[in-house]
Amino acid sequence: MSELNPRQREAVRYIDGPLLVLAGAGSGKTSVITRKIAYLIEQKGMPARHIAAVTFTNKAAREMKERVGRLVHRSQTRGLIVSTFHNLGLTILRDEHDHIGYHPGFSIFDAEDAKALLRDLLLQQAPDSGDEVADIQMTLSNWKNALWLPQQALSHARDEREQRFALIYQQYAEYLKAYNALDFDDLILLPVLLFRNHPDVLDKWRRRIRYLLVDEYQDTNISQYELVKLLVADRSAFTVVGDDDQSIYAWRGARPENLNQLKSDFPSLKIVKLEQNYRSTSRILKAANTLIANNPHLFEKALWSELGYGDPLRIIRTRNEEAEVERVATEIIDAKLKRGLAFQDFAVLYRGNHQARLLEVKLQAFRIPYRISGGTSFFSRNEIKDAMAYLRLLINPDDDVAFFRVINVPRREIGPKTLEQLSAYARLRNMSLIRALSEMGAQSHITERALAKLQRFADWLQRTCERLHQEDPIPVIKQVFTDIEYEEWLHQNSNTPAQAQKRMQNVWLLVDSIQSMLESDKGTADEIDIETAISRLILRDLLEQQEEEDDSDKVQLLTLHASKGLEFPHVFIMGLEEEILPHRSSIEENNIEEERRLMYVGITRARQTLTMTYAAHRKQYGEKIETIPSRFLDELPQDDLQWEGQGEKDPEINRSKGKATFSALLGDLQDNT
Ligand code: ATP
Ligand code: MG
Repeated sequence: MSELNPRQREAVRYIDGPLLVLAGAGSGKTSVITRKIAYLIEQKGMPARHIAAVTFTNKAAREMKERVGRLVHRSQTRGLIVSTFHNLGLTILRDEHDHIGYHPGFSIFDAEDAKALLRDLLLQQAPDSGDEVADIQMTLSNWKNALWLPQQALSHARDEREQRFALIYQQYAEYLKAYNALDFDDLILLPVLLFRNHPDVLDKWRRRIRYLLVDEYQDTNISQYELVKLLVADRSAFTVVGDDDQSIYAWRGARPENLNQLKSDFPSLKIVKLEQNYRSTSRILKAANTLIANNPHLFEKALWSELGYGDPLRIIRTRNEEAEVERVATEIIDAKLKRGLAFQDFAVLYRGNHQARLLEVKLQAFRIPYRISGGTSFFSRNEIKDAMAYLRLLINPDDDVAFFRVINVPRREIGPKTLEQLSAYARLRNMSLIRALSEMGAQSHITERALAKLQRFADWLQRTCERLHQEDPIPVIKQVFTDIEYEEWLHQNSNTPAQAQKRMQNVWLLVDSIQSMLESDKGTADEIDIETAISRLILRDLLEQQEEEDDSDKVQLLTLHASKGLEFPHVFIMGLEEEILPHRSSIEENNIEEERRLMYVGITRARQTLTMTYAAHRKQYGEKIETIPSRFLDELPQDDLQWEGQGEKDPEINRSKGKATFSALLGDLQDNT
């Protein structure tokens, strides 16, 4: 406690009513949460199982757990919930699924699974509407986040298009139910509905969770806020921490107004503001403060730091995107050698995942180890996707998406015609494929041979499911991969034997992780069964499409969105160009403020140095175009910047003193006319 400043201490100790800690980046908001968990357990004698802390990403949840682990002895943290919102929802649904008509072992659809189903429904409705699938997915997600059911969506529909979408929403919900599956948004929506409709269940959870803490509160959406409100009730024992300047998920329904809303919903709300930043040099903070001053503010905040003024922020202009990534790579090597740093001291941030590809190639060429969020993550490997699909089927044979993924992996020679007929039969009767299979028999149009193959698969699956529940599950799972001769299949489908072996090892790694989940709390009240273990894995898979677990010495590559809450000694932000950062779509929608907050998040990740880069020319759709440096560069305190690369060849945009961006462009335009 002595390590905290007086205001932090006040926030930790205040437990008499609702508390909001409202403060800028790096001021110790997350630290208040972890310290408070320790305080509640050790000083207030509250059993850990009555405390829940929620945040937004797996990585953040993991970090929080580690920080608590350093403060409180493991024997005292039994039953403590430190998780993402979605994981909390999953925990609730696992226990209460029968109240909402789901069977144990329900599946969770990822975005791709949901998309496949939606596309199918769209095409049934109108054969030429397949390209609306991204739209409808977004719309449905917004509706769910606003707690609208199909009925409400239908009655609120403003035009023919929304009406169509609402009808598809209805069908989509029915299908999910038939598949015993949920999508990502359901993990919040369904607990809220459950609590609203079953006061007894809500009561039980209120007795379970007696103190709730929420990190990154500015990113909660309507449904998440509702879940918080339901859980805390009028007892109002909760702490939320947030920073309105770091709200970067409006596009996913996040409402920074929720910060304001708290005051009216909980009139006794106490607000603590923190102003000392313990992360960054003064220069970095000044840059962040100056930039964000361009946004209107709900709450005034002033951040200061005692960590010295620090190095100027560097802005490096390169000829083109190739030179940009090369420069980042050489800068890292250079700084590492000169200052004796580790690779993990560096992070490279960017607006979109596509920007990382070129960088990856360059880092590989320079033999710089790196870790990238998304894309190449463990769970996106093909063998892991196959294995996960088998696991999904084992705990929920009605999961049709998983069924389709594995039916011909390895090859069972079941043709598309057969599968089409099977799904037509199932759809007509609103049942899952596996159920259809067990009852269709000879009356179908499927040939006897094909039917026999299908049934062989179904029988095998059924036997294995039974064994999974009767025997020690791990050997049963291992047997699955032997039964299907997966290793042979990998050998047929890999470029080299070494690659096949590596892929098989990945599968065993997955099985090991299930085993350790099962064993970690064995014999305690928190012991979990195989269904819970697998479904947690599925959820981790969903969440980790943005993140990855790996603590070895590597440079971290992250999107700006994924960097929230984290800190690194040396940070690079790439692509400071108009249409990249701020993003083109935000410029078109006149939504620069959210982009500015994103930039603010990026700047405030840096502890000691910050380097920003942009390319004077960049290929777009195969054409080389001249870029415009980001307007955000103009919004930084110019005296604290050090510009480099201005003299490099290629047509020059005069950026001395950083003011000439638009006038230079205007000049160029005039020259051309
Ligand atoms: P963000 O807004 O980026 O999520 P935050 O407000 O959650 O930041 P923390 O991550 O909790 O800030 O803290 C930032 C850094 O400051 C961490 O390294 C933390 O250990 C350190 N820190 C927090 N409070 C103190 C303190 N009182 N004394 C020294 N260091 C502190
Ligand atoms: Mg934080």
